[in-house]
Amino acid sequence: MPYPIFSKADINATNSKHGDSNVSEFLSYLSELVEYEYVEHPTALGIIKQVNDKGTESLTDNQAQSLEIVMKEYGQKDCEKCGNDIPWNELIAAIDNGGYCNFCEHQNEQDD
Ligand SMILES: [Zn+2]
Repeated sequence: MPYPIFSKADINATNSKHGDSNVSEFLSYLSELVEYEYVEHPTALGIIKQVNDKGTESLTDNQAQSLEIVMKEYGQKDCEKCGNDIPWNELIAAIDNGGYCNFCEHQNEQDD
């Protein structure tokens, strides 16, 4: 799966210290995709809203496929330099900086 599977209960849990940080980071990442207008298609926006409310478990097969298409374009990938997985909370920056994790991006800046 290119994205975490979670329920409304998991979303509620992210508000407490028992929450899964992967879920909360994924949700912030989705919000940022919308905020910075990487995602503008009404269908995708509706799916993201539903995921924020009810979790990815609530998606129909068709909705899940649409979310996978968004994830193919903007989802998790490896850093161009070190090859490590870029975590959700660094992905928006990575879209902007050409695909580097925070650590490598910081090194790139120092090289300039
Ligand atoms: Zn890196």
